[in-house]
Amino acid sequence: MPTPSKEGWFVPPENRIASPKFNKRVKPIKMIVVHTTIAPRETPDNRKRIERWLMNTSSTASTHFVILRNGVILQGVSTLDKAWHAGKSSWPRLGIASDVNAWSIGVDFDSLGRLTKKGGELFDAYGSPYHGDVIEHEGDFFEPFTVEQIDSFRILLPILADEYQVGEQNIVGHRDVSPGRKTDPELIFPWPIVLSAIDFGCTTRELANLVRYH
Ligand SMILES: [Zn+2]
Repeated sequence: MPTPSKEGWFVPPENRIASPKFNKRVKPIKMIVVHTTIAPRETPDNRKRIERWLMNTSSTASTHFVILRNGVILQGVSTLDKAWHAGKSSWPRLGIASDVNAWSIGVDFDSLGRLTKKGGELFDAYGSPYHGDVIEHEGDFFEPFTVEQIDSFRILLPILADEYQVGEQNIVGHRDVSPGRKTDPELIFPWPIVLSAIDFGCTTRELANLVRYH
């Protein structure tokens, strides 16, 4: 049963991918930072690809949670530890001048993110032709997040925000803490839909049912 635990794991054991990429957390959690993975798509749920990323020590990136395209939530690092998701970053609102990782939880949505149009065709960041759903925003093209991903985050987010008393103003995108350097999760991220979940709240039992459902 996935309950917020003393060890900072919020998902059942089968969805924990214990990444070796973390440090002991020494600062309190004050923020939640949302990302897109922009991981190459190997299968529709991309689970194996995401698991390899979390375990692979040749990259120095990790994160606490990854929400797969089918809505399954993987957890790579205990929230009691510091994951490596934001890189060079700051959040002046809280007086955090550097290293947002120290103060935050990272939540990644598996998505190819921004697409490139060439000769009337769309391509992903790896140069592969893209034929999936598309959102166009101000002349740019993006892979949309799935309903399942947003539904899962609407259950996870209130649990995290409540557990660590993170206010809405400190639930942000990578682009907000690394402006000019990062653009994820892009302007297409449905913040109003996501943040409205906090007001209505949810229970750990609902998270459990969700994970079981998948
Ligand atoms: Zn990011």
